[in-house]
Amino acid sequence: MFLTITTTHQPATDLGYLLHKHPDRAQAFDLSCGTAHVFYPEASSESCTAALLLDIDLVKLKRGPSASSFALASYVNDRPYAASSFTSVAIARVFSSALNGQCKDRPELVEMQMPLKVRFSALPCRGGEALLRELFEPLGYAVEAKGSLLDAHFPQWGQSPYYEVELSVTMPLKELLAHLYVLVPVLDDNKHYYVGDEEIDKLMRRGEEWLADHPLRDLVIERYLKHQRGLKQEALSRLLVEDEDEVETAAGEEALEAELSLNQQRLQVVLQTLRQSGAKRVLDLGCGEGRLLELLAAEGQFADITGMDVSTQALTRARRRLERLPRGERVEVFQGSLAYRDRRLTDYDAAALVEVIEHLDPPRLQACERAVFEFARPGSVVVTTPNADYNAHWQSLPAGKFRHPDHRFEWSRAEFAAWVQRVGEHYGYTARFAPVGSEDEGLGAPTQMAVFTRAGANG
Ligand code: SAH
Repeated sequence: MFLTITTTHQPATDLGYLLHKHPDRAQAFDLSCGTAHVFYPEASSESCTAALLLDIDLVKLKRGPSASSFALASYVNDRPYAASSFTSVAIARVFSSALNGQCKDRPELVEMQMPLKVRFSALPCRGGEALLRELFEPLGYAVEAKGSLLDAHFPQWGQSPYYEVELSVTMPLKELLAHLYVLVPVLDDNKHYYVGDEEIDKLMRRGEEWLADHPLRDLVIERYLKHQRGLKQEALSRLLVEDEDEVETAAGEEALEAELSLNQQRLQVVLQTLRQSGAKRVLDLGCGEGRLLELLAAEGQFADITGMDVSTQALTRARRRLERLPRGERVEVFQGSLAYRDRRLTDYDAAALVEVIEHLDPPRLQACERAVFEFARPGSVVVTTPNADYNAHWQSLPAGKFRHPDHRFEWSRAEFAAWVQRVGEHYGYTARFAPVGSEDEGLGAPTQMAVFTRAGANG
């Protein structure tokens, strides 16, 4: 098995630091399946190529526990030539510090975006070139693949599963290695060893940064875990939970608020308000990853639940969350923007805009007012937004800064009240206010909420 990794990052020989292998030396490593050789066919400051040659010893393997029961197949097979799970084992052994993002001598190289090219002499692609592309292109790779017929004399036998492949990308080397580590055995759709729980750990670790949002996530998990249903379920739920944790701690706003778990309090208050409104058909506008939708879906009162957001990434997360719910089919989500009137938003009893308006700049906010209060015109509208007066309460938030980098404004209670009054009068809604979160005597509550009721609507 032969693969090369080339960079034209300047100076290209930095690749030697990252791989922890000196470009001037050829090295050999003993593995249980054979010997891995690492050497550099070229190493100039313009271009540097590291080669991994894996010399698989089938006789040695035959003695191991994973030997096949079909005698001849143990000695005559594609493993010495094709990239496979042996390649992943070799990468993890020979390039372990690079894969784990460690580089003692030059730590700044670890996260560096580098132009990289990987070439495989024979990559088995069960699923053909199409699958190869579907796996790598969403991760940003340009893919070139040269296939061949299984046998030129018998074209009717079709295409060989082995491709000569070149993948080009600009990214940190550790990310590329993690992709290869997971996706090579996935393409081969095979593993040379027993697959159990610890395989899920490996997948979580190596797929942490990219797998949850990969369009072929399910196929990757299924193949990586050798089609074992139980393991797949476990991996999926772990991936989703870990994903949520990450989202919760990633955003600065949420970190600030974590102490109060304000987010949850807010959703509970909104849920209760919608419940009391008597609404059956509800809209969550700017639903994000669907936390409110999840709460709504748990209540029998809400017969039709619809979420809309402008972000496809948020919607992907929302759909994933909803798939797991027992009565998730009552919930529909779609992509749309509050800046446009949208027929799909009419005929609802109530709508929620939870922490959304502050993400809209003035012209969009104005368009949103019309889209919601003039065209969609639900019976009631629940709007929450940060209370800027309360920001003084947070030591960690510098004066004049917003709670989230995407906020276009944060309003004081007076500013919010003025907006609510204007919108209510203009579109024929009455409104009441309520604080969300524990109140500070002088500053109010961290979140402010307004509940609009359409003139003439119940509740
Ligand atoms: N309501 C959710 C998300 C709040 S974050 C919650 O409370 O958890 C704000 C959300 O508004 C984001 O998901 C963002 O994608 C969405 N958003 C921003 N501009 C939008 C627009 N023009 N139309 C629809 N959604 C928008």
